[in-house]
Amino acid sequence: MTEQTIPQAPPVADDADAPARVSRRIGSIAESATLAVDAKAKALKAAGRPVIGFGAGEPDFPTPGYVVEAAVAACAQPANHRYTPAAGLPELRAAVAAKTARDSGLSVTPEQVLITNGGKQAVYQAFATLVDPGDEVILPAPYWTTYPEAIRLAGGVPVEVFAGEDQDYLVTVEQLEAARTPRTKALLFCSPSNPTGSVYPVEAVRAIGRWAVEHGVWVITDEIYEHLVYDGVRAASIAVEVPELADTCVVLNGVAKTYAMTGWRVGWLIGPKDVVKAATNLQSHLSSNVANVSQRAALAAVSGDLAAVDEMKVAFDRRRRTMVRMLNEIDGVVCPTPQGAFYVYPSVKGVLGRTIRGRTPQTSAELATLILEEAEVAVVPGEAFGPSGYVRLSYALGDEDLAEGVGRIQRLLAEAR
Ligand code: PMP
Repeated sequence: MTEQTIPQAPPVADDADAPARVSRRIGSIAESATLAVDAKAKALKAAGRPVIGFGAGEPDFPTPGYVVEAAVAACAQPANHRYTPAAGLPELRAAVAAKTARDSGLSVTPEQVLITNGGKQAVYQAFATLVDPGDEVILPAPYWTTYPEAIRLAGGVPVEVFAGEDQDYLVTVEQLEAARTPRTKALLFCSPSNPTGSVYPVEAVRAIGRWAVEHGVWVITDEIYEHLVYDGVRAASIAVEVPELADTCVVLNGVAKTYAMTGWRVGWLIGPKDVVKAATNLQSHLSSNVANVSQRAALAAVSGDLAAVDEMKVAFDRRRRTMVRMLNEIDGVVCPTPQGAFYVYPSVKGVLGRTIRGRTPQTSAELATLILEEAEVAVVPGEAFGPSGYVRLSYALGDEDLAEGVGRIQRLLAEAR
């Protein structure tokens, strides 16, 4: 009889030297809180509960017809059943360069554009390409929930700089400077912001860009909400306002929000040629390329006009006003008026510590659970985006549902004692 191999016991989790079952790098990632809230609300809805969800980060409009038609036509072409170059269809890279010059005023060549699987993958690849283990990335908070995870996956250290409702959730150069160390590699900049909807005034954009240039800090600027601005404000691109950033700036964007194309998964990363080349090498091993048909649809979208987003904006603007007004009517809730994206970000600190139906929420996470269970309304707690004390509500849902949902929150919180 041959000697048998003795089965090994699985590695014990608390033995720091043993290989982990799920790698420590991936095991430490938290589930996306926004997707989790959305999933919970959808599950309750599927079970027949009249849940109203304010968790979603996507427009409630269909993709424009001409985009869908381009995709249908592309499906019939065998050429589109094949791989594309890793960096994307040459026509699409050129069209994104043209669209960027048209919309933000940034002039780039097609070689500076990498087509990614949604803006989310552009975020991931930007950090993976720029950040070495131990590098610090300054992250204005409240921040979109994906940024810190993508920074940590690259081995980087997110350094949070918090701006509360008293400063319209906008960080200052002084705050950024206080957070800067010799290990600071980059600043993440997102305006209009998810989750707060805040838009940096042009002067502030310039000041932050100049600070970054002065100290050799890279800027990763997420411009995915560039067209969703209200009250006549302009979303200034930091790369345009501070041209000296050209060699140390990466711009992230995509079709998801502007063209109601979240499900098509097309985004892009724009940057200096060497960075784009390196990020393309990564993508060539990660996902090869974005689905060919989706790239054709995106080509139609960015080559067309902005009529669809202009139409969505009218509805979003109306809902934004209703929501801000109704939330500010609640005792203990303070909701600044956001000027961009499709989120409001009220402070709920005045409600915490008070008793509602026998429960006394101490954190915004506990309050969000209470609101979901008692009012059947889904909101995302501030803990997903930074400190407790806030909730995020998306207004990308129908006017009637919106009024009904906020009305339910109003009635529930009116019971707070
Ligand atoms: N950046 C921000 C700030 C976002 O809110 C989102 C979507 N929630 C994305 C990037 C990514 O969008 P997508 O991957 O759907 O293109």
